[in-house]
Amino acid sequence: MNEIFDSKTTFGDLGLSSDLCKGIRDCGFEHPTHIQAQLIPEAVKGHDILGQSKTGTGKTAAFALPILERVQPDQPIAGLCLVPTRELAIQVTREFNELGAHTGLKMLAVYGGQKITVQAKKLEAKPNIIIGTPGRVMDMNNRGLLPYKGIKIAVLDEVDRMLDIGFREDIRKILGSMKQKHQTVFVSATISPEIQKLARQYMKSPLDLTATDAKQLTVAQVEQMFVAVEPWDKRRLARYVIKHEKPEVAIIFCRTKATVDRVAQDLKRNGIDVHTLHADMQQGQRNRVMQKMRDGKADVVVASDLAARGIDVDNITLVINYDIPEDPEIYVHRIGRTARRGRKGKAIAFVTPEQGELLDKVEQLTNVEVPETQFPDFKPGPEPEKVRKAREQSDAAITQQRETKSRSKVVAPDKESGSDTSKFPGGIVPVAAPKKRMGGRLRTRRS
Ligand code: ADP
Ligand code: MG
Repeated sequence: MNEIFDSKTTFGDLGLSSDLCKGIRDCGFEHPTHIQAQLIPEAVKGHDILGQSKTGTGKTAAFALPILERVQPDQPIAGLCLVPTRELAIQVTREFNELGAHTGLKMLAVYGGQKITVQAKKLEAKPNIIIGTPGRVMDMNNRGLLPYKGIKIAVLDEVDRMLDIGFREDIRKILGSMKQKHQTVFVSATISPEIQKLARQYMKSPLDLTATDAKQLTVAQVEQMFVAVEPWDKRRLARYVIKHEKPEVAIIFCRTKATVDRVAQDLKRNGIDVHTLHADMQQGQRNRVMQKMRDGKADVVVASDLAARGIDVDNITLVINYDIPEDPEIYVHRIGRTARRGRKGKAIAFVTPEQGELLDKVEQLTNVEVPETQFPDFKPGPEPEKVRKAREQSDAAITQQRETKSRSKVVAPDKESGSDTSKFPGGIVPVAAPKKRMGGRLRTRRS
């Protein structure tokens, strides 16, 4: 069976009008993906749905088509789709426009960083479907420009992100204000039991759809691997990997904006054409980088987790986890920027000797063992003087502590969420924990 597409079904079978089928054909879609084949007919009937399927499997069209089917041109602000980033608001709006090109429906992206007066004017033209980020949507609602009372369908894309601590309150305010009867459709590639519970507070007996039979969270078409590296060698390794792998487009994910800038500067100094993407940049700049990526004019993008979710750019063939994330679900989303629609891609994680535990957490969540890879031509550098001194000092302190205490108090590493096999009940359940390697410690070639 095809992992992504349901080749036995056509879009015509899913209860969609001929106007929509025309838009679907224009987009070049032949068969629905599994999540589309499952979700669309139920959503068209009006059910609330919580849908989970892997990255790059067409969740956008899965929620967009039922909205386009159910909302009529004479119904202003009848569909609302909330997304976590401005980039995603723009991208999702584009897909709505393409799929709905023959429906006569008007869509509008509502997001921060764009002139409020411009968006206010566009809202006066009574769009039918709003795609927006929560902050700006609330702002427009407060100004009386974006009423919730006509909304028939509300969607949360990346639902686990929308209901995590950063957005939870905003979502409560928006969805909590919709007193009329309305339908909800929430989707993501990762939905933990806690998020399911939260999500259900906004839903009426939702259908749980998990469109995959594989017991893994990441798509098989991503070739995953890790490289053991000392922290001081990481920048040089990033340079090496880019030159060695020759990706069409690569995204390098870093934990902080400062690291994004530092890594980008280093690559630039070494003659690599590189762009950055993080939340401290002006929106105009962010949009230009996204457009360059889509046009195939940006080869290497160094990014924060702003770009971790949802971004759908065709030719990303390599994802580098420069900093392996603390939250293993972020890893799933980051590497999901490659190998979309069943294509191939590579994901390389840089792992320092202290970060073995983080890699274990990723493997336990995804139920995929990430093998080690080595680049024999890459020569690790010497330990910097500063690092050596700090290490020697801390070693001396530990020795002293040991001598003064009669009993050693070394505590076993905290395993917490990693061993929680109930993480995805009813969904993608890890069947076996990958084998531990070196008690959560990795060796680099120096040690
Ligand atoms: P997800 O949200 O699941 O990560 P997207 O909705 O971003 O995935 O879709 C990934 C890509 O697949 C997009 O470029 C989209 O246009 C394309 N796509 C979606 N559905 C189909 C389909 N049925 N046939 C071909 N391509 C599709
Ligand atoms: Mg998506």
